[in-house]
Amino acid sequence: MSALRDELIRAIADGSQYNIDQLAQSLNADARVIDQAIASLPDIGLSVEHTSSKIAQLARPLKLLDRDAILAAAGRPAALNSLDVFGSITSTNAYLLKKTPPPVSQVDACLAEHQSEGRGRRNRRWESPYGSGVWLSVGRSFVRPPSDIGAFSLAAGVAARRALLACDIPDIGLKWPNDIAHRARKLGGILVELRQLPQNRLRLVAGIGINVTLPDEARRHLAESSGTAATDLAAIAAGHPPDRSHLAGTLIKEMFDCLAEFESAGFAPFADEWREADVTDGVMVEVLDGGVSCVGTARGIDTDGALLVESSGSVRRFVAGEVSVRLKA
Ligand code: ADP
Repeated sequence: MSALRDELIRAIADGSQYNIDQLAQSLNADARVIDQAIASLPDIGLSVEHTSSKIAQLARPLKLLDRDAILAAAGRPAALNSLDVFGSITSTNAYLLKKTPPPVSQVDACLAEHQSEGRGRRNRRWESPYGSGVWLSVGRSFVRPPSDIGAFSLAAGVAARRALLACDIPDIGLKWPNDIAHRARKLGGILVELRQLPQNRLRLVAGIGINVTLPDEARRHLAESSGTAATDLAAIAAGHPPDRSHLAGTLIKEMFDCLAEFESAGFAPFADEWREADVTDGVMVEVLDGGVSCVGTARGIDTDGALLVESSGSVRRFVAGEVSVRLKA
């Protein structure tokens, strides 16, 4: 079903009206199967308009990811081992974690139009409706991982911010440890997953999700289910978001540069830029560490990327991976 559904989406992507019998013929499938596939599109985030039972049309045209345009924008990096571009997948991070690791110093990249089980931290869900964002993962392994590898998700945030700036999207903030923000709204997120390999090697997979044109339904769902105020590049760029393939390629380029820089120098070269983008500096925050809450004033990050929070006259350090930060009114 998934392969046929991807073919169907490609066939109707331009947003014109399509006759279901003709689609069935050109896709070499039964009309009832096409009907079912069309009926399933809203489940993956694509709204369909039915002017009659025989006509289907996407609610808005869709420009699908284009592998060649992605590679061109990425500058065809020498370190690229593979680039997989999927229609629908469970999770780009999960896919790269299952794949045989690339040779050392080489990097795998994976993009999908839709993730059915997009991941946030601690099994939280990352909403990834079809064609509405850039859902990218990159993966490589390290023979001698930098000692501050735990701060890689902060460096990846800096890389994402650089990529957005290169696509003419300024004013991007970063919220410790892994949110990409615009004016207190969540534009994207980062999920870094590490796995120990034999002979002390370490495997790193970093996922970046950036909303480009998030459907209203997903935005409503996020507000209702987790109180998340989400935004997208369409809203930030007044209806003219960057082309997704161009953004994806630019992100790949910045992530590859970031991986190389982090390998040779760790988090240090990223720290000042991260501090510049810090949306919580000097702001009252609540840090949730397991079940325990600490309220205080955020005081930026330490040299290793730990969050500093001043509370009752002393400064506490929080390390990424364990805690969530909420802005306090
Ligand atoms: P947190 O920021 O709460 O620590 P994560 O960084 O792990 O959590 O991201 C998962 C959370 O992000 C979800 O629980 C949800 O609130 C929010 N979220 C999920 N998908 C999106 C999206 N496409 N855009 C903005 N926020 C999202």
